[in-house]
Amino acid sequence: MNDSLGQHLQKSLSTIKKARWYRQEQKITDLSGYTITIDGEQLINFASNDYLGLATDIRLKQAVIEATERYGNGSTGSRLLSGHRTLHDDLEGAIASLKQTPKALVFSSGYLANLGTISALMGKKDLILGDEYNHSSLKNGAKLSQASILEYQHLNCEDLVDKLNKNRANHRHCLIITDSVFSMDGDIAPLPELLDIAQKFDCWLMVDEAHGTGVMGKQGAGCLEHFGLKNERIIQIGTLSKAVGSLGGYVAGSEILIDFLRNRCPTWIYTTALSIPDTAAALTGIHIIRTEAHRRHNLWTNINLLKKLCNQANLTLLPSDSAILCLPLKDASEALFISSKLRDNGFYIPAIRPPTVPTSRLRLSIMATHNISDLQKLIGILGKSCP
Ligand code: PMP
Repeated sequence: MNDSLGQHLQKSLSTIKKARWYRQEQKITDLSGYTITIDGEQLINFASNDYLGLATDIRLKQAVIEATERYGNGSTGSRLLSGHRTLHDDLEGAIASLKQTPKALVFSSGYLANLGTISALMGKKDLILGDEYNHSSLKNGAKLSQASILEYQHLNCEDLVDKLNKNRANHRHCLIITDSVFSMDGDIAPLPELLDIAQKFDCWLMVDEAHGTGVMGKQGAGCLEHFGLKNERIIQIGTLSKAVGSLGGYVAGSEILIDFLRNRCPTWIYTTALSIPDTAAALTGIHIIRTEAHRRHNLWTNINLLKKLCNQANLTLLPSDSAILCLPLKDASEALFISSKLRDNGFYIPAIRPPTVPTSRLRLSIMATHNISDLQKLIGILGKSCP
């Protein structure tokens, strides 16, 4: 007889536990600025995507209160039925303006934006080429589309060209997909080269700016702005849940792309519109990103200081040009041990382990609001703890 459902799941969980890959949520009871309270213990948070400190900004809170007093909390329906508010238009206008595209469309999360956009654009006769380290939402969007999928080696344009030479001619449309800042490593995609390749092989280029928005570029528009790239082949996607300080996802591009998605994208059409509080907070977050460049400046001061301190302490980080800095470690046990030692000293820096990443590491997310003495103390402890 087959295993019962419970037995089947138990076996799977036991395998995960044996490999020390078992994970659980933290009991977080408070969050303020750059501190986080877990199980009653206040810690300095190096695990947040809130790079500019906007998630707890008073102006986002006020925007939420004003919007919910006017419109209520839930959006009550899908965008094409009862869920659309002029607030959504305002947010989409603000995103398009930041991204320098004619239009934008907001989704209930970045994950849904990626799943829906890729699967609406691509089909059975098409080819998708993605960086092997792309985010799960990009990989699953590709699978959902039923297109042929090939992964190229991380950041490796030669491998991409090789795969295009061998496969492009057998397919109708071709989409190259990449994170702009890679979420588990912090390194940056070679976007100018990828755009050249897209032009040469007649492909579209989708860039997920989840960790680039607010952090990269003079206006905080992301890596495309940083590299000065604009082209009608490019489709920008991203999230409102990281530097923007709210929740939601978006696609930014041409008027026709957005019109197409409004009519063809199931994860936008058949789900309830982005909630009122999230929409209002995101609109204010985008406004602050554009008008308060000093936040980005503070963030980069902290990133550069942390890199310098690591260097002085002989701690070798993975290559990164973003707010995500990773310290590679031997294995999951070592990563867990050092993470718990840091916690004993007041720092929250989770160990990132397989299967999320190929090799174990400590992943530090830097915030504009971290202060210099905390960064110095952290590297002092890390320097003593790491082998
Ligand atoms: N893309 C990337 C690169 C991400 O890191 C994430 C979030 N971890 C997402 C997409 C999904 O965004 P959201 O959290 O808004 O669903």
